Amino acid sequence: MEQENKHWNWNNSYLTVNQQLYSKVVPSYVELPRLLLYNKNLADDLGLPSELSSDAISALAGNGVLEGSEPIAQAYAGHQFGHFNILGDGRAILLGEHVTPTGKRFDIQLKGAGRTPYSRNGDGRATTSAMLREYMISEAMHGLRIPTTRSLAVVGTGDEVYREYVSEGAVLTRIAASHIRVGTFQYAAKYLPKEELRAFCVYVIERHYPEVAEEENPPLAFLRKVQDKQIDLIVDWMRVGFIHGVMNTDNMSIPGETIDYGPCAFMNGYDPATVFSSIDRNSRYAYGNQPSMARWNIACLASALLPIIHDDKEEAVKLCQEVINDFPIVYEKRWAKMMCSKLGILEEQEGDDSLIKDLLHWMEANKADFTNTFLQLLKPKNEHIGIYGVADFQSWYTRWEERVSMYAWEEVFSLLNRFNPKFIPRNHLVEETLHQAANLNDYGLFNRLLKVLQVPYETQKGYEDFQEPPLEGDGDYRTYCGT
Ligand code: AMP
Ligand code: MG
Repeated sequence: MEQENKHWNWNNSYLTVNQQLYSKVVPSYVELPRLLLYNKNLADDLGLPSELSSDAISALAGNGVLEGSEPIAQAYAGHQFGHFNILGDGRAILLGEHVTPTGKRFDIQLKGAGRTPYSRNGDGRATTSAMLREYMISEAMHGLRIPTTRSLAVVGTGDEVYREYVSEGAVLTRIAASHIRVGTFQYAAKYLPKEELRAFCVYVIERHYPEVAEEENPPLAFLRKVQDKQIDLIVDWMRVGFIHGVMNTDNMSIPGETIDYGPCAFMNGYDPATVFSSIDRNSRYAYGNQPSMARWNIACLASALLPIIHDDKEEAVKLCQEVINDFPIVYEKRWAKMMCSKLGILEEQEGDDSLIKDLLHWMEANKADFTNTFLQLLKPKNEHIGIYGVADFQSWYTRWEERVSMYAWEEVFSLLNRFNPKFIPRNHLVEETLHQAANLNDYGLFNRLLKVLQVPYETQKGYEDFQEPPLEGDGDYRTYCGT
């Protein structure tokens, strides 16, 4: 352990924020820690050892505390499906912040490490399958070059977890720029006096957006920055067909990373109404609603910041409104630019809008696979088979060919390859890998899929079947929270 302790460079700045924002906790003891996955590439980036001793594995399951770590559970609130609730880390424990050899600061968090003062009726635990799922999809998002929390390790606990089925528990070590959420500000606004809310905001600005500290109204500039980051993130999600599934304000990260991989899934056939989450009965977080839901969440952040944006509430509301009004304008612009890039269009022109929308309409009407449709643009016409061979797609394709003919093909080709992944974590594949790994203890398929998803923009011979959507469509595929 001593060997490893020297790799950790703890600097737990969150302990300097108002004490109402966290509780000191100790991870709960587990029966039989067993390392299931360790992300050596990430460990290397973080300056951590490439092998873990058995003591370190135990510590990442919650048995014993790494030297220098000062575990806490963070308090936060959140609008869950539109309803305000007081929450907090109910099954996550922040071990502390590790500063890498290149000076980058990361939260090191154990997810599924036992009960905390915020657990309410929950057991504080997570199933192996759910933690493997988060590991797989967060690493896939990283491969897709989309900001995300990362997964360093999954350690089985040897203890039983009771859900619909009894299964073994596991603890995920999650790495994030921080776990500060929109909901953290909602909590701070509810419980802290104004000057303490301001102090917290100063802390967060210094940690994530130091460039706004010098602005005339730092909290307002901060609001705009967070909005800006969220817009970029949502545009990225839309680009690859990612559906977060539970975009509550407690699951929206202030540094703009994708966080909380509970019920998320990837869209196969294009349909803006796609929803997989079992608890999202009103389709609040459907694929096509994600931009407006992000804006709704930013409005919640604005609400929390009002008292420190201006002493006069009406004036504060007006200032925030100006920011929030810009959301759809900025979003539409960035979305259009992204869609142009997906079509290999170097610079947007009049008429591109209808080229994009006509393709999307065609895809929706034909239930065409979102990912694979864009890959058709990399193929010559004579290789278009199935629905891509029919006249309406072909006439669209001819229009597109004409549109990009003004550019050098190498440039179009390079843009197409950068914006269109060849591989996404297909739901049916993810489920099959989780079944084999969590239930049969066979990690072969899991590791093969993970490897492919680390470089999803590359052609990978022999893995063509990983590109196929499920033969029968998504059927009644459902995802779950809190598993
Ligand atoms: P989610 O929207 O899935 O992030 O979860 C909402 C809240 O429920 C968070 O505060 C979680 O910490 C908490 N939570 C989820 N699952 C559990 C569990 N098994 N035990 C305790 N708290 C949980
Ligand atoms: Mg959450």
